[in-house]
Amino acid sequence: MTKKARILIIGSGPAGYTAAIYAARADMKPILYTGMEMGGQLTTTTEVENFPGFPTGITGPDLMGQMRQQAERFGTEINYGVATSADLSKYPYIITIDEAEQVEAEALIIATGATAKYLGLPSEQRLRGSGVSACATCDGFFYKGMDVAVVGGGDTAAEEATYLSNLCRKVYMIVRRDVLRASKAMQHKVNNTANIEVLWNHETKEVLGETQVTGLLLINNKTGEEKTLQIDGFFAAIGHQPNTDIFIHQLEMDETGYLITKYGTSKTNVKGVFACGDVQDKIYRQAITAAGSGCMAAIEAEKFLNTGEWE
Ligand code: FAD
Ligand code: NAP
Repeated sequence: MTKKARILIIGSGPAGYTAAIYAARADMKPILYTGMEMGGQLTTTTEVENFPGFPTGITGPDLMGQMRQQAERFGTEINYGVATSADLSKYPYIITIDEAEQVEAEALIIATGATAKYLGLPSEQRLRGSGVSACATCDGFFYKGMDVAVVGGGDTAAEEATYLSNLCRKVYMIVRRDVLRASKAMQHKVNNTANIEVLWNHETKEVLGETQVTGLLLINNKTGEEKTLQIDGFFAAIGHQPNTDIFIHQLEMDETGYLITKYGTSKTNVKGVFACGDVQDKIYRQAITAAGSGCMAAIEAEKFLNTGEWE
């Protein structure tokens, strides 16, 4: 039997849970599917120190557990399941969960986030959260006065390196070519920051450390020469992949797959379909901005259902 939802939310990060809290409090009886990563990206981290309301910090899993409870308290139906396909060609929209169950949605809120890309080294995977990070704004603080490395040569890497240069003693940028992909403005910043050193033509062979990052084993891909770099933190900044595969050819996206929303709103190009959080934000990528846009999506979805207004 097809399940019917007035508001269907996919994703259980800060954006999805916040949308659920607002939609449930507005008595819209939202149904939410969590995806594989219940609680979203923050469940992969320890301390979150920049989410307002927690002056002594809170762990990522605790914060997400509390958001979930708050969404449930007002009556959100929360189900474990992955949206495996979507049909937005006719209204109400049909979302298939786990290739089996179908949900018919009058309004759809997409909060599926984006996944940081890592190099894929076993040592990098083992030390994630113990010196390996993909978010300088989130974790840079823990490396105050220390030496860190950022891998990547794009705008994200340049931005992360610049941010870290204000906190850390030394920032190495590990760049695999002899040029940066980053914009000229960001290149200028990197080149003019005294404590950033770019290691051109270098690739990371291994992240060193037993329980905490202590260094990197690098290889110069021009000369084949290997060297060890002592560092305390390693930041992967080689891009993010928004989780939008099931909406390809159905919703407007940019060239990297981020959903495009109408400026200042959470509205996609399809009536009644809203996007919030990292899936439509490649600039800020923070829990609080994701939560804020989840709030916007719920308010806009409620208004759409109550008035039919779209523009
Ligand atoms: P996400 O948190 O990415 O959640 C996406 C959700 O969508 C997940 O529940 C996933 O299971 C679900 N999903 C994906 N595909 C599907 C599908 N097909 N069907 C159903 N569900 C699906 N930000 C801060 O503000 N402070 C921090 O200290 C901080 N630390 C971080 C540390 C780490 C290690 C990382 C990786 C990120 C950190 N961030 C931090 C960034 C923050 O986690 C993200 O900006 C935020 O989680 C984005 O929220 P979101 O709801 O948009 O998406
Ligand atoms: P990106 O532009 O795709 O750059 C990724 C960088 O990582 C490239 O330098 C790439 O090297 C490197 N890289 C990829 N895989 C690697 C690997 N396995 N090993 C080592 N290096 C690897 O990604 P991004 O920097 O996240 O930017 C994404 C988009 O967002 C861009 O359009 C960017 O302009 C935009 N953005 C803008 C701002 C801003 O305007 N302030 C900030 C952030 C992002 P190669 O160059 O050799 O391919």
